[in-house]
Amino acid sequence: MAGLPYIVGNWKMNGTRAMLAEARAIDRAASRFPGVQVALAPPFTLVNAMREAASDIGVGGQDCHVQASGAFTGDVSAALLADAGADFVIVGHSERRALHGETNQLVRDKAEAAQAAGLGVILCVGETEAERDSGSAETVVTDQLAGSLPQGEEAAAKLSVAYEPVWAIGTGRVPSVGDVGAMHRAIREKLTATYGEAGAAVRILYGGSVNAGNASELLAADEVGGALVGGASLTAEAFTAIIGAA
Ligand code: PGA
Repeated sequence: MAGLPYIVGNWKMNGTRAMLAEARAIDRAASRFPGVQVALAPPFTLVNAMREAASDIGVGGQDCHVQASGAFTGDVSAALLADAGADFVIVGHSERRALHGETNQLVRDKAEAAQAAGLGVILCVGETEAERDSGSAETVVTDQLAGSLPQGEEAAAKLSVAYEPVWAIGTGRVPSVGDVGAMHRAIREKLTATYGEAGAAVRILYGGSVNAGNASELLAADEVGGALVGGASLTAEAFTAIIGAA
């Protein structure tokens, strides 16, 4: 498996300054587990404060604009995230794809812009429930990868892929360990077909209703190199249990 297990919390649109206390507690917990790489992606408003409050965890953004700067009211570029102290950014989350109409091409452009700004990238893919039920989950996911994986010589170097079935996000439902392994193997194949040997080192995270109770089982599935955690990353207690399971 490529590198240390990577456990990333996605705080989504949650996180007032009062929640920096949770981030500090998560940071202290991370320092007790040197064999696990831990990171949090808070809202933009907390990126810099979290970077200054924590020393043992990565801090990242949840999205970025394609351009580095300019007349894009309300948007945040990868360069601005890097300047605020971020080390990585999540792109292509299904909430961005569904609620903001983000296409594979836009997600690829964002991933490439982030890498050009020196940020690591977590690229999210995943099928809907209807796609799973119709038997097309693997085709959907490999098509998303074909359209949105960043291109370029160093593209695989600072990349993780997160497999997040849309129907598992925030629902408390998770795929079987066998289905997770099968999808992660298909993703690995696509990564090595795209990047050659470098594709073998890209970590593939599972995301969707990961919690303290199911983390060890999901993390033990084939080709699972970590987890992208939403709800259960919001408190140090729940997130620390997942870090411990890794
Ligand atoms: P969840 O979210 O853990 O709350 O299901 C995961 C995600 O959307 O990254």
